[in-house]
Amino acid sequence: MTERIYNFSAGPAVIPLPVLEEAQANMLSLPGVGMSVMEISHRSKTFDEIIQGAEAGLRELLNIPKDYAVLFLQGGASLQFAMVPMNFLSLDASADYIVTGSWGKKAVKEAQKFGTADLAANMADGGFTRVPNQDELHLNSGAAYVHMTSNETIEGVEFKREPEVGQVPLVADMSSNILSRPIPVDKYGIIYAGAQKNMGPSGVTLVIIREDLLPRIREGLSIMLDYRTHVKDKSLHNTPNTWGIYILNLVCKWLKDKGGLEGMQQENEAKAKLIYDAIDATDFYRGHADADSRSIMNVTFRLPSEDLEKKFANEATAAKLDGLKGHRSVGGIRASIYNAFPREGCEALVEFMKEFEKRNG
Ligand code: PMP
Repeated sequence: MTERIYNFSAGPAVIPLPVLEEAQANMLSLPGVGMSVMEISHRSKTFDEIIQGAEAGLRELLNIPKDYAVLFLQGGASLQFAMVPMNFLSLDASADYIVTGSWGKKAVKEAQKFGTADLAANMADGGFTRVPNQDELHLNSGAAYVHMTSNETIEGVEFKREPEVGQVPLVADMSSNILSRPIPVDKYGIIYAGAQKNMGPSGVTLVIIREDLLPRIREGLSIMLDYRTHVKDKSLHNTPNTWGIYILNLVCKWLKDKGGLEGMQQENEAKAKLIYDAIDATDFYRGHADADSRSIMNVTFRLPSEDLEKKFANEATAAKLDGLKGHRSVGGIRASIYNAFPREGCEALVEFMKEFEKRNG
């Protein structure tokens, strides 16, 4: 086999090896089918089993209540930035946005095209280093919804619990921490997430939506941009990303075989702790996020200078630790350690950090 290296990419990101192996083994022909998954009709019995398996897998792992629909859409989380306000906001209404980083800012920009997007909190001061406390939220009980980003991938800032929003539907962009730990789905009105971090390849967007919200959707939307279309047609109104849903189904099976999300959370917390402990052990490395808002998926930190950061990322790549350069908008170093990222890779990074400091500290 071609050698695999440690992939710290923020997304598309590492996929579990057993999943890749199974996909590889069945690439030319799904067992008993004689065709690859990419060659079969999305209306075939075989694909029906795959998409139903993916939905059932997610329902079991996330304990999704029955009154929620599970959708597999396209257009990425970025389209959801627009679809949520398009469906639920109007020019004479407002929605509350809790902004804890770069992706939340983008969501606000899209919402402003459809109605009023109020900032229930804007944590931009200091460069998005923490999530707000409950008493810092300026919530409007008449808002159409409250939007939050459960994990800001670029800054590495994560909510550890849901904000209390009363009766207003809570909408969460969970692109970068979905399936990393159990969540109380019933606290949310809508959850959406691009697949390409914890669920599979890019090109599938998961949407989990409470069905009692559907009557609130405004009329006159394009068919493809109206959630009701996809609920009614069970994500098969048009041709979905069949390959992506196939991989997502395998990822759910992998997670179930591992014992589900409680075990995954423990593993993730232990992996993140290894790196955060290494950051805290010295003044050479400086964590970006405040301790109680630290992401267990995206560990962000700085070095004493940008030159050293560049050198760190380059030398790490040469040492087969790839993808550590921070996002171009904020710089620094970011280690993305999603579910499928192995603990050994975190240990290797910690060793590299110690050794790099010795040479450059
Ligand atoms: N939200 C978050 C939290 C993200 O991390 C990303 C992608 N990195 C996006 C939205 C945008 O996702 P997509 O590329 O699927 O549109």
